[in-house]
Amino acid sequence: MATNKELLLIPESLADVMTQADKAGYMMNAVRGALLAPENRKSAPHFNTTELAALCDADRSQIVYRSSKNDLPAGTINPGGNRRTFTLDEALPWVREFRAKKLRPEGAQAVCISVANFKGGVGKTTTTMTLAQGLALKGHKVLVLDCDPQGSLTTLFGILPDTEVEEEQTILPVCLGQESSIAPAIQETYWPGLDLVCAAPLLFAAEFGLPARQMREEHFEFWNVLNHALDDVRDRYDVIIIDTPPALSYVTINALMASDGILMPLPPNALDAASAAQFWRLFSDLAGQLVEQRGVTKSFDFVRVLLTRVDGQDSTTSTIRDWITKTYEGKVLPAEIPKTTVASSSSAEFGTVYDVAKYEGSQKTYKRAKDAYERVAELMEDIIRASWRRQLAV
Ligand code: ADP
Ligand code: MG
Repeated sequence: MATNKELLLIPESLADVMTQADKAGYMMNAVRGALLAPENRKSAPHFNTTELAALCDADRSQIVYRSSKNDLPAGTINPGGNRRTFTLDEALPWVREFRAKKLRPEGAQAVCISVANFKGGVGKTTTTMTLAQGLALKGHKVLVLDCDPQGSLTTLFGILPDTEVEEEQTILPVCLGQESSIAPAIQETYWPGLDLVCAAPLLFAAEFGLPARQMREEHFEFWNVLNHALDDVRDRYDVIIIDTPPALSYVTINALMASDGILMPLPPNALDAASAAQFWRLFSDLAGQLVEQRGVTKSFDFVRVLLTRVDGQDSTTSTIRDWITKTYEGKVLPAEIPKTTVASSSSAEFGTVYDVAKYEGSQKTYKRAKDAYERVAELMEDIIRASWRRQLAV
C-alpha cells in the first residue's frame, strides 16, 4: 500500500496568488450579493406608540395627548384602526421635540469620538455602529467615518466595499490632498439621522500618500489632515464617530488627532489587555515625538474603555476585569457588552442588535444584549453633553 506517499509541494507564483485573490473576491461578492439581495436591502426599524414613547423618554399617555395637537407626524394606523406605527423618519421629530433639552446646545459643535484599539476582533466596528444607531435613536445627528480599508462598517450599512465604493466616497481624496473638506464624501444611509463616509481597500493608498506628502510638501502636518477636513462639517452634526483600523497607522493617527475623545473596546482577556497596553505605549511614544519635535499640543475631553465580548462563563474574566478597572482607573464605562450570539447571528450578519426586528433565539438573550448597547449609548450621551458644556465654557 502506498500510504506513505511523500507530500509534493506545487509552487505558487505571484500570478497564482492574483488568480486566487480574484476567485476569493468573486466568492465574497456572490455571498454578500445573496445576503444583500434587493429583498434583503437594509431598512430602518418601525415603532409602535409604546416604543415611540420609550424613545422619547416619555409615557405612552404623553404621546397620545400630544397627538391631538397634530403638529408631529401621525404615523400610520393599521386597517383595524387600533394600532399606530411610525417609521424612524416619522419618529425622529417626536424624539427631538421631547428630548430637546438633551440635544446639542446652540453654539456647540459635533463631539468627535475615535473608536480605537490595536487589535482586530475586539468589537470596534460593532461598537461604532451600535453607538451611532443608539445616539441617532436619541435624536442626535450622527456622522460615522469608516477608516478601516477592510470596510466592515461600510458593509454593516449594506454597501459592498469592493464593488460599490468609489474613491470620492472615502477619506482618500482628503488624505491625498485632492479635497480639503470631508463634505463631498458624505452620503445618507438607510438609517435616518445617520450619515456615512465609506471605506474600501483602495483606502490603503492613504498609508503611502500621507508620508509621501510629508516629504514633499512644506508645512504639511500628516497628523492633522482629517482634523482640518472635518472642521467643515462640525457644526452640521451632533456627534462624529470614527471606526479605525486595527493598527496605529497614519489614518488612525489622523482619527485620534481629529477627535475630542477616545473609546477603546476591550474584551477582558489577557491577550487583548496586553495589546491594549501596547496601543497606549505606542500612541504615547508617537505623541511624545509630535510634542517634542513639532510642538504639537492636543488634549482629549475623555478617554473611555468599554468592556466588550464579556464572557461570563470564562473563569479568568473577573480577574482580568479587576485588573483592567485598576489600570484604567476612572476610565472604564460602568456597563459592559456580553459575549452574545445576537451580534453574530445570521440575521445580524450585516447588521447589529438594532437591526434585528425579530430575534429567533431567546428573547432574554436578545434583551440582555440590547439593554447593554442602550446603556452604553446613554452613558456616552452624558459624556458628549459634558463635552458640549466644556466647549461652551471655554
Ligand atoms: P473589530 O472592528 O475590532 O475588528 P468587530 O466589531 O468587527 O471587531 O467584531 C469582530 C467579530 O466579533 C464580528 O464577527 C462580530 O460580529 C463579533 N462580535 C462583536 N461583538 C460581539 C459580542 N458582544 N459577542 C459576540 N460576538 C461579537
Ligand atoms: Mg473593525
